[in-house]
Amino acid sequence: MTSHLNGIILESQNFRENDRVLIFYSQELGKVEILVRGARKIKSKLNPFVSPFALLELVVAPGKSFYHLIGGEVKRYFKGVSSDYKKIIHATNLFRRISVLINLHRPDQKISVLLIRFLEKIDQIDPKKVQIIYYACLIKLLSLLGYRPEIKQCFECRKDAKLLGENIYFDFEKGGICCFKCRENRISAVKINSKVLEILHNLLYKNFDYLENWHFDEKSFLAAQNIIKKFYRWHLK
Ligand SMILES: [Zn+2]
Repeated sequence: MTSHLNGIILESQNFRENDRVLIFYSQELGKVEILVRGARKIKSKLNPFVSPFALLELVVAPGKSFYHLIGGEVKRYFKGVSSDYKKIIHATNLFRRISVLINLHRPDQKISVLLIRFLEKIDQIDPKKVQIIYYACLIKLLSLLGYRPEIKQCFECRKDAKLLGENIYFDFEKGGICCFKCRENRISAVKINSKVLEILHNLLYKNFDYLENWHFDEKSFLAAQNIIKKFYRWHLK
């Protein structure tokens, strides 16, 4: 019995001598592993369907350890992504990073939509802005996967973020911000400021169209970027 799966390739790994295994995120089944027999041979008939940065409809059959690719169709190809080095790097990194955190066979419509929106957005965007969309997508995906950082109030005493002034700390273990008083004895807390918090807030809660045209302070963006990177790595442990 075959199934049609719509989605995108998160990763592709070499397998045995001539094969490849795709880590595919589908609307129907969530993350699945699909074996592509002979994918590493130049003349493989299946290769056109193994395009990264494309919306694919793959026809698969269940196998012992993997699904097996039988055929497929490229529904939409994001040419703007595959023709720009910076975009390729960011899309590859994002998908690889997020793939590790996603469990097999747990479809989530919101994740599917976000991954496609990410490709749609970076496809047409100025390459200089790719980084903003990348970090926004990473923090949004982390949230959808159950790691939403608490950035609206101190996770301990619940004091509103707006009342914290510049005494704001981000605690990686708790995954959120805390006030000066509650940060005591928390070794995984680092000092941030209201500008960095605003950037984190926008990346998490604003949509890609807004973020594309958004003007922000570079130095604070760099600090927010480091918080997100470290926050991500914390969840890999
Ligand atoms: Zn507090």
